[in-house]
Amino acid sequence: MRFIVLCLTISVPASLAQRMEHPGSPREQGFIPPTQVTMSRPLVPSSLTSTLNPQAAVANVKPLEMKLLILSTDGAEPELTALKTFLDYQGTPYEVVRLALGENLPPLEDGNRGFYQGVVLTTGNLGVCDPACRSALSPAGWTTLETYARDYAVRIASYYTYPEPRFGLIYTSGITPVSGVSLSARLTTAGAGIFPYLKPEAVIPIANAFVYLSKASPVNGEETVPLLMVGDGIVAATHKKADGREYMAFTADNNSPLFHSQALTYGMIRWVTRGVFLGFRKAFLSPHVDDFFLPSVLFDGNKEQCRPGGTPFDPLNPAPPVCSVVRLVPGDFGALQDWQSSWREKPQFAGFKTTLVFNGYGTRVEDDALRLKALPAQKDFFWVNHTYDHRNLDCFSTVGGSCRAVNFDEAMTEIGDNFAFAAKQGLAADPLSVVTPMITGLTSPDFLRAAAQSGVRYLVADGSRAEGTPAIPNTPIPSATEESVLLIPRRPTNIFFESATGDEGTDGSEVDEFNFLYGPNGFFRIGGTGGKPFFTNSQTYNQIIDRESDQLMGYLFRGDMYPLMFHQSNLYRYLGLHTIYSDLFDSIFSKWSKISNLPVSSLSQSAIGAMLEERKTYLNAKVKAVWTPGLGVKINSSGAAKVPVTGVCAAGGCESYGSDKISFVAVEAASITSVDFR
Ligand SMILES: [Zn+2]
Repeated sequence: MRFIVLCLTISVPASLAQRMEHPGSPREQGFIPPTQVTMSRPLVPSSLTSTLNPQAAVANVKPLEMKLLILSTDGAEPELTALKTFLDYQGTPYEVVRLALGENLPPLEDGNRGFYQGVVLTTGNLGVCDPACRSALSPAGWTTLETYARDYAVRIASYYTYPEPRFGLIYTSGITPVSGVSLSARLTTAGAGIFPYLKPEAVIPIANAFVYLSKASPVNGEETVPLLMVGDGIVAATHKKADGREYMAFTADNNSPLFHSQALTYGMIRWVTRGVFLGFRKAFLSPHVDDFFLPSVLFDGNKEQCRPGGTPFDPLNPAPPVCSVVRLVPGDFGALQDWQSSWREKPQFAGFKTTLVFNGYGTRVEDDALRLKALPAQKDFFWVNHTYDHRNLDCFSTVGGSCRAVNFDEAMTEIGDNFAFAAKQGLAADPLSVVTPMITGLTSPDFLRAAAQSGVRYLVADGSRAEGTPAIPNTPIPSATEESVLLIPRRPTNIFFESATGDEGTDGSEVDEFNFLYGPNGFFRIGGTGGKPFFTNSQTYNQIIDRESDQLMGYLFRGDMYPLMFHQSNLYRYLGLHTIYSDLFDSIFSKWSKISNLPVSSLSQSAIGAMLEERKTYLNAKVKAVWTPGLGVKINSSGAAKVPVTGVCAAGGCESYGSDKISFVAVEAASITSVDFR
């Protein structure tokens, strides 16, 4: 199949001639190489036993500080990285102690108040071998910890556990990870209650991790409850001692890129905190489709100019004449509308909405059919300014052969002309947001000043680059020079801007480009030039869509608020009503509805920006909260903030999300605010 070249014979109005006199620009695409998961390591069994004398359980009414204690060995465990990642996405406070590096178990209580509401062990026995194997926590330390757990009714979770009697488990067999092979884990009835955001019948794949299968072995007075099974082997369980202490243990290893870790960790956090904690997790999916109204050049592996790294291309400049281009026709837009509506009819996906990131320049042809089709349907989408004509803001023109960045007046025009276009067309563009072409302009003080002066508060940064990655996830990045302008990291995918079809051997083939980049002879190699290819076999379209949708499912599970990057070429109908965009989201929604009952929602760019700012303000306020079980939560804050509390409904109301109540409690600076249970 060949593409029709839809829109490249453009007659340029005289007033726009100046706009055309600029050099080609770098490729727009950010790349996010397929995740390489290091296979996990086996654990050292231990013969640790509880040293506590049996004693009756005491109902706890003592106040607990709302933070978790994470006990780690040397701090280098992948399980620790994973725990920090998931907790950071939620905004849930924790302290890490690296016992094998000489850090001591901190004081746990003062007789009246517990200093931690839950304890998480990176590994069940905190075993280290240097070279003799021992627990990084001393016997006296274990006694202190277990006494605290008993007297304050504080739960302990082990994130990766060798099955041993301390957890009411005994080893039956171990499974060494084999790349590409996954085990199918299923929830028990009890597990369905502890992971209520998962469908009870969900099949949870476990891959790329050591797995110990175990069986329950409670002694008299103890209770072990299996939560997750592979066949008849337990891979997660809770365990209650005769004195009331409660443990949860995972016997499969965990790491943040692993699917099962993404699916299960929230339930562990929810359990170990008894469902009441600072922070929150919701499933967001906010796709941006860039270059709306412009044409896109298409990938052609046989022509150097039409491959990544070939001739630089800018949608404004005529594409290399040898490359095909595609611009949407009204039928493509109608198909997008119908497809999106069909998902929005399902309650779980009613909040899904695509953001169209537009350039008015593309509609300058009189009675542009795409514009006439899209405008009446504008309410079905969020609209974000992508500048009027998509010029490279870092290389706005050349002086003596080198690039000159956009100046203030030019930047005002680039932003202002597109807002003016929208206003003239009655298009309700997000007034606070711009996506810059190719993510340029972010280091230009002139551009940032023009953005601020235009009332713009939120730009996007490339989330696949270090400068587009904040130290703490779900927070914004300050812009280089303007206090009022913030950057929102945006995540690229491997759905490329030059891709318009799932077919192979044709221009704009997603499959051909994916294999060109990551296949056996791929351009990108693991670890850089000279490394192994990402895939030793060429990948099929279904494999690519499957992997990309898994990646985005991970974002959903961890509550990632950041938007995703796509391009208008991905909305092209290549096979009846199919588009790469709809294929990908059909895959995500179909998988998500099989595994989770959580609603998915999309946010506008300015809503995302506001939420990230709210998170940052909350983190900066250094909130200290105390929870008294059954009574309520007291929040002590150094700064004014909206404090997210899951599991409590505040007087001002709360959201119900899945099985959780989430309150956003407004607190004043240097104040104590009480939230009663309701
Ligand atoms: Zn663009």
